[in-house]
Amino acid sequence: MKAPLRSKIFRIISQQAALKKVRAFVIGGYVRDYILKRPSTDIDIVVEGNGMEVAAAVASVLNVPVTRFKNFGTARIQYRGLDIEFVGARKESYRSDSRKPVVEDGTVEDDQKRRDFTINAMAFSLQEEDYGILTDPFNGLEDLKNRLIRTPLDPDTTFSDDPLRMIRAIRFAAQLEFSLEKEAFSSIVRNTSRLEIVSQERITAELQKIMATGKPSRGLVLMEESGLLARIIPQLSLLKGVETMDGKGHKENFAHTMEVLDNVAYRSDNIWLRWAALLHDVGKPSTKHFDREAGWTFHGHDYVGSKMIPSIFRKLKLPLGEEMKYVQKLVQLHLRPIALVNEVSDSGVRRLLFDAGEDIEDLMMLCRADITSKNPKTVRRHLENFEIVSKKLVEVEEKDAIRNFQPPISGEVIMKTFGLSPCREVGLIKDYIKEAILDGKIGNNFGEAWEMMLQRAAELGISEAGA
Ligand code: ATP
Ligand code: MG
Repeated sequence: MKAPLRSKIFRIISQQAALKKVRAFVIGGYVRDYILKRPSTDIDIVVEGNGMEVAAAVASVLNVPVTRFKNFGTARIQYRGLDIEFVGARKESYRSDSRKPVVEDGTVEDDQKRRDFTINAMAFSLQEEDYGILTDPFNGLEDLKNRLIRTPLDPDTTFSDDPLRMIRAIRFAAQLEFSLEKEAFSSIVRNTSRLEIVSQERITAELQKIMATGKPSRGLVLMEESGLLARIIPQLSLLKGVETMDGKGHKENFAHTMEVLDNVAYRSDNIWLRWAALLHDVGKPSTKHFDREAGWTFHGHDYVGSKMIPSIFRKLKLPLGEEMKYVQKLVQLHLRPIALVNEVSDSGVRRLLFDAGEDIEDLMMLCRADITSKNPKTVRRHLENFEIVSKKLVEVEEKDAIRNFQPPISGEVIMKTFGLSPCREVGLIKDYIKEAILDGKIGNNFGEAWEMMLQRAAELGISEAGA
């Protein structure tokens, strides 16, 4: 196979490498994606010799800066939306007694041997004499055609050398919608414990790529089946299985979670909404209870689940700020919308709007995605109920504008009116007004709130300043 590689950038790299009398190749992901006709802006160039020197020469022709990563021996330039990384070809040999390989300079063939998968080990030549010709030592092209993830060496060797590759195998299978070669899969099953030597940051980066795919369950189910998930997020593996009592079984919560996750992913790219879907039922195993009359219940799994989020995020080294709070909030509130079906008054709706705030739409998306059942009639009935709640939310929000609730009377106004400094009473009055608005006792406006403030203050024995 021969690629035209018409882009000016490849010509320039080719010329500059020739001037330095070294061979250069396009390698890895770009080659794979080029053949798959997937657009890609990341270009990896491997040079037999000093990659930094060639990068510097190319950068000076293009008149762009070059960033060097001395520790990795790589250099990067950015040009017209392209990210081009240069690296010297390396030869790696692993020894069983050490995690760190011995790394030496090598040929492009050596470099291809240390790649993770056959489809990632292909290279296009940038030499004048065979410009664009594919070098494919492990038949990656064939595997691309067969949509197969296969390791270039014996999978036990490839995975043991760098166990992160086990998750990468699944990530590529999920992303490209490929299958994992059988031997590779059974090797992963054998080698899951090797994951211990991999840093959490690298694992989580791959996990995030799986979460960002169109149908994340594809990757997560493979992780579960291979035994990797039990090591990374054991709380999710616990959702597996169905218990039966008095002939009654409960929902298979892992399969359900996968369905909810895919439902959300189908409608939204928001990675944290996807995490909320993945974790929404994580409190179920520890709240599971069987009652002769009510059957299986998971009371409080929303609350318990939301309390589990921080430790999961901490272990996975996911961000602990806004993102985590958002996921916690959605997990905690995920049952609330549907619980409103039987609520006659508007106050429950107002409270939900208040608690969800600006995340109300995301919460509703999660709640809708959570409606799964093997019985189409049940799904239809629940969806109808869901629509009723959706409508109510819109009506109440139009009327009362609770979603971005700002108290009509601030703490400052209360303090000024009664000549108070910050104290418990100010909070009490403020809360009382808020509760009255949410309960619908008064409207969300200054006048009614002012009256309520005076009344509550009097009850507390506080009188107006100067009165
Ligand atoms: P994408 O950028 O879409 O994630 P990619 O194939 O470019 O896909 P990268 O992680 O950017 O993946 O890696 C670039 C290339 O480096 C890969 O195609 C592969 O050849 C090689 N590579 C990356 N990580 C490893 C690894 N852990 N073991 C062996 N080779 C690897
Ligand atoms: Mg890449």
